[in-house]
Amino acid sequence: MAGSSAGCRRMQAMQLDWPGTPLVLRDLPVPQPGPGEILIRVHCCAVCRTDLHVVDGELPDPKLPLIPGHEIVGKVAALGPGVDRFAVGARVGVPWLGRACGTCTFCRGGRENLCDAPGFTGYTIDGGYAEWTVADARFCFAIPDRYDDVAAAPLLCAGLIGYRALRKAGDARRLGLYGFGAAAHIVAQIARAEGREVYAFVRPGDAAAADFALSLGAVWAGPSDAPAPDPLDAAILFAPVGALVPAALRAVAKGGRVVAAGIHMSDIPSFPYSILWQEREIVSVANLTRADGEGFFALAEHVPIRTETERVPLAQANAALDRLRAGRLTGAAVLTMPGF
Ligand SMILES: [Zn+2]
Ligand SMILES: [Zn+2]
Repeated sequence: MAGSSAGCRRMQAMQLDWPGTPLVLRDLPVPQPGPGEILIRVHCCAVCRTDLHVVDGELPDPKLPLIPGHEIVGKVAALGPGVDRFAVGARVGVPWLGRACGTCTFCRGGRENLCDAPGFTGYTIDGGYAEWTVADARFCFAIPDRYDDVAAAPLLCAGLIGYRALRKAGDARRLGLYGFGAAAHIVAQIARAEGREVYAFVRPGDAAAADFALSLGAVWAGPSDAPAPDPLDAAILFAPVGALVPAALRAVAKGGRVVAAGIHMSDIPSFPYSILWQEREIVSVANLTRADGEGFFALAEHVPIRTETERVPLAQANAALDRLRAGRLTGAAVLTMPGF
């Protein structure tokens, strides 16, 4: 990118002007990598439910205008000053945690996922619904060769957040997954590889999701309002539906844990203390750390994860978001850039 042409290159991007309005296809200048940043030629970017929460205005104070997208796979095209990770041409993934301050109490305590001054890709900093992007090199990941670009994209958030949620579930043998979409279908495969039993709770009436869960090795699949066939040791909630919290509490055994993995959820209805008593717990999962990413990708190198994906051209991002909002996606939509 060095040289006189650097400032005049253009790219296509889908941009959010204001929450609650559709993304707009724009012709924008290619960004320049600042100190510590890499310039990435984006090959594809998966669509996450969090993108929907950003676009719909359910998360406060996004950067505006904003290029969404935080499950980015591409190749390094240029290095900004001071970058000592990655070489030009290396394949990288960019996740939700775009940067952390490194100095707050949380960062210093190994909990950069809770950083006081973070930057989130595709939310507070521009993301990957574009042909090019820049990212802080320290927060990018190398991606195992066994995954092609499109298969790898959902690993960057559905996989990573799912992995963190699974770790929060401890050593649960009987594991419930509520909401069987992009994250759950990855977690189910890791859980199976770890010898756990997966119980899939799907949107009532969604037979395709139930079949999908069973095809990935779930021992049981049924509607989310049904009682669990066996007491569970833990349950992870991927669906942003507060009413599932008491449902999951009822499904876990004494000492069981309910892990809420989403960034946003509708209000949780009141429930009797008796379903929390006996040391049941409710916890949430926020963001990710780089250690999660290193752990997850090391595991993904050995456990072959099949990601269910559907390629969607960048310019049709609004249609992909609409289908996710309506629950009409099995697995993950992956936006592909022109030429890929
Ligand atoms: Zn911090
Ligand atoms: Zn995400």
